Amino acid sequence: PRGDLHAEVVVLGAGPGGYTAAFRAADLGKKVIMIERYATLGGVCLNVGCIPSKALLHMAKVITEAGDAENHGIVFGKPKISLEKLRTWKESVVGKLTKGLKTLAKQRKVEILHGTGKFATPHMIQVETSEGKKSVSFDHCIIAAGSNVARIPGFPYDDPRIIDSTGALKLEKIPKHMLVIGGGIIGLEMATVYAALGSKISIVEFMDQLIPGADSDLIKPLYRRIKKRYEAIYLETRVTEIEARKSGLTVSFEGENAPAPQTYDCILMAVGRRPNGFNIGAESIGIQIDEKGFIQVDQQLRTSFTHIFAIGDIIGSPMLAHKATYEGKLAAEIIAGHKVLLDARTIPSVAYTDPEVAWMGLTEHEAKKQEIEYEKASFPWAASGRAISMARDEGITQLILDKKTRRILGAGIVGINAGELIAETVLALEMGVDMEDISLTIHPHPTLSETVLFAAEMAEGTITDLY
Ligand code: FAD
Repeated sequence: PRGDLHAEVVVLGAGPGGYTAAFRAADLGKKVIMIERYATLGGVCLNVGCIPSKALLHMAKVITEAGDAENHGIVFGKPKISLEKLRTWKESVVGKLTKGLKTLAKQRKVEILHGTGKFATPHMIQVETSEGKKSVSFDHCIIAAGSNVARIPGFPYDDPRIIDSTGALKLEKIPKHMLVIGGGIIGLEMATVYAALGSKISIVEFMDQLIPGADSDLIKPLYRRIKKRYEAIYLETRVTEIEARKSGLTVSFEGENAPAPQTYDCILMAVGRRPNGFNIGAESIGIQIDEKGFIQVDQQLRTSFTHIFAIGDIIGSPMLAHKATYEGKLAAEIIAGHKVLLDARTIPSVAYTDPEVAWMGLTEHEAKKQEIEYEKASFPWAASGRAISMARDEGITQLILDKKTRRILGAGIVGINAGELIAETVLALEMGVDMEDISLTIHPHPTLSETVLFAAEMAEGTITDLY
């Protein structure tokens, strides 16, 4: 049966996965309806994720660089921070992009239906809109309903002093003394922002390393720098209790390096994200979902129904925007009849901390675990003219290569702009290049991008051109 509305392709969720899928499907000639519960398009990434965090990290960088310039003869005054102006600027960045999406949707005649959608049948979604219920039937559906903040149960979340990343991005005030629970990418990025704004930062992480997914030698330069700037970093430590008192939030810890109970005026909970798999009625129609809430898909992103696809955070890790957009495009193309499937060799990860940490392909840790015969070429930025001239020579560029074929298997970079620099190695991996290919490629001098060349030359034993 037809619903109140019908489309060839219905996209549930307008995050980076959803809007990319919708736009691509429309460009391929499909009639598309996109369902979104929030007032603006762009999902977590544009509204409360990648973009606002990067806007704030940019200002954090300006503050930190101005402060560091003191060591080199340029002394600025103490920054005067207008939170209101900073917030307005951040909101204007988000606004520009979300409005842009609206225009792009209009140009393609993608119909946007604002409301919360739930599957009623394998061919129908019921949408709760401000004007009542609407049913939307479809030939194909792409689920792109994303993820939400995960919480450790049992803490007093009613207390407004306990915030998550969305709360932190609101920038309501600058806490004096902030505890970040979770030393992953999101927690550390927000710590970077608030440290620059003047908060005293402590971080507690359950694992034995910050950003547990990355190789430990990449994390060391980051750790060394923030250890000096932050009040404390407790590794292998867990929070057991948060007691909300008028005077502050008193936190008890447990573990190897656990301190005595400490009091903070703000706690940022950054312990990961949970997929929205169980929030859209998918299980009621028989879509397979694992116990964590991730929807199960095959290499063509099809769920247990061949006409229903799923993409982005809701299908699994890494929960990153560029993965969602890649999958969105692919799902739309498969629906349009293209003979394609998901075959990316790697999905790069970046922590936009100070310094940044970026990695892709095989990590050294994984290479060891999988007993792969690899070699590692590690170029210290202390020998990069550009890094030295920017007074940021703590970085490392590292390539993991196959011992026999000399082909690149993975790369890790820590240092300023590592997120930009990693892209070259992703292309190298996708193209199956070997160390000779990179070392015979002329890189501009003096740049940080040369460090990739130098690492390859180290692997080849041909390095001559330091600084
Ligand atoms: P989402 O962006 O989660 O979008 C899903 C959409 O579906 C939402 O708009 C939601 O409202 C809607 N929706 C859900 N259920 C329903 C329903 N039932 N009915 C209607 N609509 C519904 N990734 C990066 O790659 N780089 C970064 O720098 C980065 N920084 C981040 C910083 C923070 C603070 C956070 C929280 C995340 C960050 N991420 C980053 C992760 C990135 O935001 C996500 O990977 C990305 O947004 C996932 O896209 P998606 O399309 O799968 O889902």
